[in-house]
Amino acid sequence: MALIVQKFGGTSVGSVERIQQVAEKIKKFRENGDDIVVVVSAMSGETNRLIDLAKQITNGKPVPRELDMMVSTGEQVTIALLAMALITRGVPAVSFTGNQVRILTDSTHTKARILQIDAQKIGAELKMGKVVVVAGFQGVDEHGNITTLGRGGSDTTGVALAAALKADECQIYTDVDGVYTTDPRVVPKARRLERITFEEMLEMASLGSKVLQIRSVEFAGKYNVPLRVLHSFQEGPGTLITLDEEESMEQPIISGIAFNRDESKLTIRGVPDTPGVAFKILGPISAANIEVDMIVQNVSHDNTTDFTFTVNNPDYENALGILQGIADEIGAREVKGNVSIAKVSIVGVGMRSHAGVASRMFEALAKEGINIQMISTSEIKVSVVVEEKYLELAVRALHTAFELDAPDHRQDA
Ligand code: ADP
Ligand code: ASP
Ligand code: MG
Repeated sequence: MALIVQKFGGTSVGSVERIQQVAEKIKKFRENGDDIVVVVSAMSGETNRLIDLAKQITNGKPVPRELDMMVSTGEQVTIALLAMALITRGVPAVSFTGNQVRILTDSTHTKARILQIDAQKIGAELKMGKVVVVAGFQGVDEHGNITTLGRGGSDTTGVALAAALKADECQIYTDVDGVYTTDPRVVPKARRLERITFEEMLEMASLGSKVLQIRSVEFAGKYNVPLRVLHSFQEGPGTLITLDEEESMEQPIISGIAFNRDESKLTIRGVPDTPGVAFKILGPISAANIEVDMIVQNVSHDNTTDFTFTVNNPDYENALGILQGIADEIGAREVKGNVSIAKVSIVGVGMRSHAGVASRMFEALAKEGINIQMISTSEIKVSVVVEEKYLELAVRALHTAFELDAPDHRQDA
């Protein structure tokens, strides 16, 4: 008998019919004798709807504590509905909010981190033969305030519960049948991966593939939780996220392509090139809690330098204002910003043992006439910034260049 934690995303519980289908599925697992803990998201669109309400009533700036209080209700609805659907089918079940389980988090509202999970209550209910249904995305801080874990946070609830309960597997059920070489909604030729390493999945998630929340992958890697991504309503093996880089003759150099449309670029030109200039520019940006992603500094002939970096779109206006202030202060020539950019990244542990991966990427982009604005590399990834309108073309070209296209889509030369 196995203990399995199953997480169902928003689309999978998006209507009464779907919740009934999920209940039927869980009933079958119970009949096989498995113990099941289920984590559910809010019905699809609900979290957005609630955030929008909060914005309407606060001119766009809701108080984080109250926002968490409200958005956590989305998941409270689905846990109760699923528990009812199970009980109606003769499957004993009980639902709990994050607070009731006691998923203890820090107090960083809207992006709280899980500190500790009390497994006792869930364990006791499982012993009584019940399916335990837990609200994803939410927790409680030490003062009893409801917190939430950031968008996509139900994935992290699932993995964290699996770690705390020492579950045999954590299954993430969603609207695709696994992790693909890239987002299958953008590239129809994308291929499902049988397995992917935690390390690669972490890169994919942090570079923009929203199929799993970054923190859920971090958690799974840290506690070595067997993690699988599966389709909610189609049979299939899904994708296993594993620790080891399996030795295989066919190990591709690149496992996947990630992209992110939600970044903007800021440039400060003609900065006097003196020691400490990078700190003068990025210090105030970081003091404003703005995360900076890629950074490039160019030195010009007249002892001035140009400095370019990217930030997440929601931070753009704020960053631009700060940068203009800095420019006046240090006597820079001008400040420019561009929101119409996107970042495309190739990811793969195979890069460690293969030279020339970056140049192959640049060649593929050059062939399509796509200009590269910024480049950054690490051990297992290469990222470039391109004009946003070329994003899909870039992803498709790279997908083909690195031989990732699904066989039935591959064109004969
Ligand atoms: P859920 O509501 O179940 O949490 P999400 O929308 O958060 O579902 O995640 C699933 C979506 O992730 C898919 O519909 C797909 O469009 C997108 N996605 C992005 N990159 C990938 C990828 N590499 N493989 C699979 N899906 C991806
Ligand atoms: N409902 C939350 C969101 O939309 C959490 C989740 O679905 O994982 O972000
Ligand atoms: Mg999700």
